[in-house]
Amino acid sequence: MILETFPVGPLQCNCTILGDEQSHEAMVIDPGDNIPDVLIRLAKHGLTLKQIVVTHAHIDHVGGALQLKKATGAPILLNQADLPLLKMMDVQAGWLGVATPEVAPPDTSAEEGMVVGIANHPAQVIHTPGHTPGSVCLYVGADHLLLAGDTLFAGSIGRTDLPGGDSRKILRSIRDRLLILPEDTRVIPGHGPGSTIGREIESNPFLQPGVQL
Ligand SMILES: [Zn+2]
Repeated sequence: MILETFPVGPLQCNCTILGDEQSHEAMVIDPGDNIPDVLIRLAKHGLTLKQIVVTHAHIDHVGGALQLKKATGAPILLNQADLPLLKMMDVQAGWLGVATPEVAPPDTSAEEGMVVGIANHPAQVIHTPGHTPGSVCLYVGADHLLLAGDTLFAGSIGRTDLPGGDSRKILRSIRDRLLILPEDTRVIPGHGPGSTIGREIESNPFLQPGVQL
């Protein structure tokens, strides 16, 4: 497995390249910005991009997706429940004081239970509403890997104060859908350092028994 995670854009969204050495196929998760850098990294590994998965339609995660699609021809997957957020990209750009990136509706809605990914690295879509209505995580079981978007962070959880956010839903999503994964599952969040499911069960202050938001 080729795995590269690197921060992109002013909010330092973690963009991830997952590639397969044998088939030379790759998927990119959350290409929020810095698309020339993403393309250089793909070329460096000799990878052909097959799929762009966006965990949710916040500008820092989706901002570069269309540019990457235009450069590679790879389809964009994003859960349809985030289409309203995608349509308010100008408002989101206003929050950050940045130019509005060109975006387009996804080619496919990333739906609960769908298996996406590339040869030898199938990834299961887990719908985890809360941070946004259409937030999804990707579980790459063969590689003990969870791409958690802005749902679960090392020692924290995603904010729910933006439009469409829901603090009860995010806790339910994390508890019912993520904490049941094997404890050695490596977690790559949408921002900041990585973790494991076991470490978050043990020490994430938002996930301790009895915590209500
Ligand atoms: Zn977000």
